[in-house]
Amino acid sequence: MCLQKSDPIIIVGAGAFGLSTALHLIRNGFTSVSVFDKDDQIPPRYSAANDLNKIVRAEYEDPFYTNLTIKAIAAWKTPLFAPHFHQTGFLHCVSGNAPQKAIDTLKRFQASAEEHAEIRSHVTPLKGQTDIRQACWQLEGPLPGWYGYLNRYDGYAHSANALAAVYRAVQASGVRFHLGEHGAVDEVVYVNTREGKKSSGIRTKDGEFHPASLVIIAAGGSAGQLVPEVGKNVVAKSWSVAHVHLTDEETSALRGIPVTYARDLGFFFEPDPKTNLLKLCPMGGGYINTDPATGVSLAPTSLEESAFIPEQDEKQMRRLLEQTLPTLSDRPLVRKSLCWFADTNDSDFIIDYVPGTTSSVVLLSGDSGHGFKMFPIFGTWVLDLLKAEKQPVTRWQWKKSPSSDGKANWGGDVSWRVGESKEISEILPKRSSRL
Ligand SMILES: Cc1cc2nc3c(=O)[nH]c(=O)nc-3n(C[C@H](O)[C@H](O)[C@H](O)COP(=O)(O)OP(=O)(O)OC[C@H]3O[C@@H](n4cnc5c(N)ncnc54)[C@H](O)[C@@H]3O)c2cc1C
Repeated sequence: MCLQKSDPIIIVGAGAFGLSTALHLIRNGFTSVSVFDKDDQIPPRYSAANDLNKIVRAEYEDPFYTNLTIKAIAAWKTPLFAPHFHQTGFLHCVSGNAPQKAIDTLKRFQASAEEHAEIRSHVTPLKGQTDIRQACWQLEGPLPGWYGYLNRYDGYAHSANALAAVYRAVQASGVRFHLGEHGAVDEVVYVNTREGKKSSGIRTKDGEFHPASLVIIAAGGSAGQLVPEVGKNVVAKSWSVAHVHLTDEETSALRGIPVTYARDLGFFFEPDPKTNLLKLCPMGGGYINTDPATGVSLAPTSLEESAFIPEQDEKQMRRLLEQTLPTLSDRPLVRKSLCWFADTNDSDFIIDYVPGTTSSVVLLSGDSGHGFKMFPIFGTWVLDLLKAEKQPVTRWQWKKSPSSDGKANWGGDVSWRVGESKEISEILPKRSSRL
């Protein structure tokens, strides 16, 4: 589309993709950028990136994403992002009980790291417990059957703080923010023009209409509410997150540990020195929230609905701790929640115009649970799209309808996922009877 630098642009969603887009639009001379978010704070509590930390690892099975992450890591080392990037390394293993799928995936990740000219010198193979202890002495658990590799090129980002930093930077550069009840977007508004159906802006839940030449939807697991055309091609999915609250001494003792990841169990991070929280995630197929009427999974609308984790995930987190940091394995788990993201069958992002909108609406979606590492550069790909007639990267184009049998493939075929997705209704905590 032929967009002038002064044309009004609306971004819906102040999460990772929305804020990165605002940053790169403003850095590239666009002067009328407004961001809307339904939460009244940034980082928004609904954002998957409102979290202590996210893994930033360069090696993918697919060199396309490996090369992009190398660029992202270079950008993580620039002044705006560097305070939030921690290059602690990525200790990537399987336990002795790992299924073959997890073992095969680990091998492909390791090969990808070892074969890449930029990464290979940072990689150390770990043949078993002795090697792992040498790489990270704090892992004093039995590590039964564990093996894998350590990649010192990788690490993690403090994602909530990175969102807050970019928010402050773009706000200071003139991006306008509409938050809370004035920022919750109800619908994209369309008009009929000679060229065809076109968006004229958005309407917020308070009834206000906000005009725009271009509307960019970056609504994470809620994208389908505003762009129903995407249908089953984007699946709102969640994974469990929980934390152990440590003492000051325990946090200090674990400083600098690598992100520790067993493909069949889950992973944890260096504890956060401000809150003394050590974050844990179990590995699994995740949970979806399918509307029986449409067959489409959307993120629940309230935070309360996701303020728990299923018992089986809690058990798996404790198993991970027993094998690595056993003194923590019986501690209470705090700040438990299901965290929602937007999944696609093939794990590829969607960065494209919504068809039938005369290039007036762009969808940024399909983060598939691996998008945060791209935060510093994601918005550059949106600029590339705006410059082009159509999305030049085929795999990020709008997806054609799912398989003809009408049944969505919830992504179980993607090699790096272990386990099948379940419906959230199957795992809701049992309420005690009042009788
Ligand atoms: C448990 C978990 C672990 C993850 N771990 C990693 C990792 O280790 N490494 C990694 O790279 N990535 C990871 N990710 C993925 C990463 O968090 C996402 O890729 C990233 O947050 C996607 O950004 P987004 O902008 O699409 O969505 P989000 O960050 O979720 O932001 C969406 C925003 O849209 C807003 N919104 C929604 N609907 C509306 C509306 N109607 N009106 C206004 N605002 C609205 C929400 O409030 C929210 O702020 C993980 C995700 C999860 C869930």
